[in-house]
Amino acid sequence: MNSEKFIANHVAKLPRSGIRDFFAIVSEMPQAISLGIGEPDFVTPWKIREASIFALEKGKTSYTDNRGLISLRKEISTYCSSFFGPDYDPVSEILVTVGVSEAIDIALRAVLNPGDKVLYHEPCYVSYSPSVSLAFGEAIPVGTNPENEFSLDPEAFENAWEPGCKILMLNFPTNPTGGTADREKLERLAKFAKDKDLLVISDEIYAELTYEGEHVSIASLPGMKERTLLLHGFSKGFAMTGFRVGFACGPNWLIESMMKIHQYCMMCAPILSQEAAVEALTNGLDEVCRMREQYHKRRDFVVRRFNDIGLSCHLPRGSFYAFPNIESTGLNETDFCHRLLREQEVAVVPGIAFGQHGANHVRASFSTSYEKLVMATDRIEKFITCLDLENKKSQAI
Ligand code: PLP
Repeated sequence: MNSEKFIANHVAKLPRSGIRDFFAIVSEMPQAISLGIGEPDFVTPWKIREASIFALEKGKTSYTDNRGLISLRKEISTYCSSFFGPDYDPVSEILVTVGVSEAIDIALRAVLNPGDKVLYHEPCYVSYSPSVSLAFGEAIPVGTNPENEFSLDPEAFENAWEPGCKILMLNFPTNPTGGTADREKLERLAKFAKDKDLLVISDEIYAELTYEGEHVSIASLPGMKERTLLLHGFSKGFAMTGFRVGFACGPNWLIESMMKIHQYCMMCAPILSQEAAVEALTNGLDEVCRMREQYHKRRDFVVRRFNDIGLSCHLPRGSFYAFPNIESTGLNETDFCHRLLREQEVAVVPGIAFGQHGANHVRASFSTSYEKLVMATDRIEKFITCLDLENKKSQAI
């Protein structure tokens, strides 16, 4: 059977995620310390798990409204107005999804015609470019850079604009750099979006994990609610990756179009996860603060260690990722990761997995216990010392 015949051309062309291959190797190494995973090391707080168990005991095993439980949408509406700013109508402006992943996919599919262009900043979350391709759009990455801590650069977006651009996709705080966006820069970007008549998709999944300054949502700026789709979820701040629940808030015309896709491909998010999400928003916020405090301490430690070791590392203002520059080692990011894993059994992710602008960097997640971070950074120091000796020897020959 000629299998090639049966795979759609645009899927055949899609590259496999480099991270998956790399972590298949890590999973075979029991002694390895992984700083590679993009999920909290905390187990979902007990009261949230208990809400889900209780719902199961009560026999809540059905589908829900396609848009999600109305009790959850009401809680989301209250949370968004207090945390992000805008008021969203729980009936017509909120859609509960299977994680932010689904929300990204159906938003792009609802909006893009073949060839429409999407501007987004890079390095970025691995799914952005493939999701645009799967929706037959054209991805236009715009580089952010370490000199300004990978923060929002509105001017770079203005310079990158070209006819056919329809969507501006943002993710602050950013995976993998921890970059953030301040109010002034967001205001300039909002003006650009209005001038060029762009729809903004703002993935704010790490919003609660902001350590410096306030988190500002572009949706809260004047005139922006009507052209912004705000995406958020429970995976990161609430440590609920396995529950697979997120949401999209935006203008009714867009939510309605996304709903058309969602109702056919997903039907609804799992009811037990939605019940857990209600508990997360009503009683789980103190747990979010507790986890953020831990990440904050770990961040300060890891960034200090990387800089002491000689790997220049900016301060990630949000998220749970450090993104040190490894150029000083003389290795490229892929060789660095493979050798570090082989020689010291520490896994970090090559920056190039997050786009070309991630070259010369690696992503090290600090969603790992403090003790493991101490061990991992000691091993990285050993690795760098051995590399230095090796370089000196080869120079002497
Ligand atoms: N957006 C960003 C920026 C992410 O880093 C991730 C996961 O790593 C997601 C979305 C996917 O989140 P979810 O678990 O809600 O699908």
